[in-house]
Amino acid sequence: MEVCKYCNQNEAIENSHLIPKSIYDWLKQTAPTPYIRSTHNPNQRVQDGLKKPLLCSDCEVVFSKIENNFYKDYFTKVANYRNPCPENLKITLDVLKCIYIIAWRVLADSFYFPRDNKYTDEEFNKFPIFLEGIKERIETDNFSQFKVHIIPCTESVLKKLGMPQVEWHIYERSITAEPRIWDDWERFIIYIQIPFSIIVFEVVPNENDEWQGSLVEGVTDFKITEIQSVPSYLKSIVSMYYENFEESRRSLSKEQIDILTKVAEKIDPNCGSSKTMKKRW
Ligand SMILES: [Zn+2]
Repeated sequence: MEVCKYCNQNEAIENSHLIPKSIYDWLKQTAPTPYIRSTHNPNQRVQDGLKKPLLCSDCEVVFSKIENNFYKDYFTKVANYRNPCPENLKITLDVLKCIYIIAWRVLADSFYFPRDNKYTDEEFNKFPIFLEGIKERIETDNFSQFKVHIIPCTESVLKKLGMPQVEWHIYERSITAEPRIWDDWERFIIYIQIPFSIIVFEVVPNENDEWQGSLVEGVTDFKITEIQSVPSYLKSIVSMYYENFEESRRSLSKEQIDILTKVAEKIDPNCGSSKTMKKRW
């Protein structure tokens, strides 16, 4: 049996999402059919197919309560097709804790179930120390060691930051999360993209990175108008995702395109995904 990687006690079950399931559900609810999201983003790096035995059911239950609070208190405020993102966001303890849990899940997944392992042994061998450190913060509600940045993806925030003006689904309907490491520990982050937000969990921060106004630790009232700058690597990451998407769209067969066009004709113009598709800079 696979033991739970978090409590190291119970048997792990194969239902672990890296990103809270409620966010995938939102994506389906705001699309005209459960399948439609693949039409405008064939290479969406969704990991909802990924079901690795990471956690036991007890740990999942504890985490799901925190993740539900994140969904209610943060996500639904920012990812909202009816009401614009509020200028002030409340960053509750559970909002921050949920981001720590996502970061832990993503890092644990790449450590225990490595796929295309792009890490050196020296890097990889340090992962358990980071995992232990993140776990300790989750257990003690002490969120000072690591740094978490949130960028709500509103037009004004993205324009002010000079983020790439790519098609809006990249910002509004993508879900992806992965560790990204730079050589010689220059920087090590967990990059988290959920609809309407980019979240960066700095495992090993680089002091020269010019973050301004995006840090959420110790901030209960988060003012999105105070977000002034982000490091340029963030723009490169978004561009890279967009290029990957473009490439996969180019590789679609004619049959696939025909099917997608037929489906697109039936889309409810008022559903969320239609609004994103029509949105222009
Ligand atoms: Zn457990």
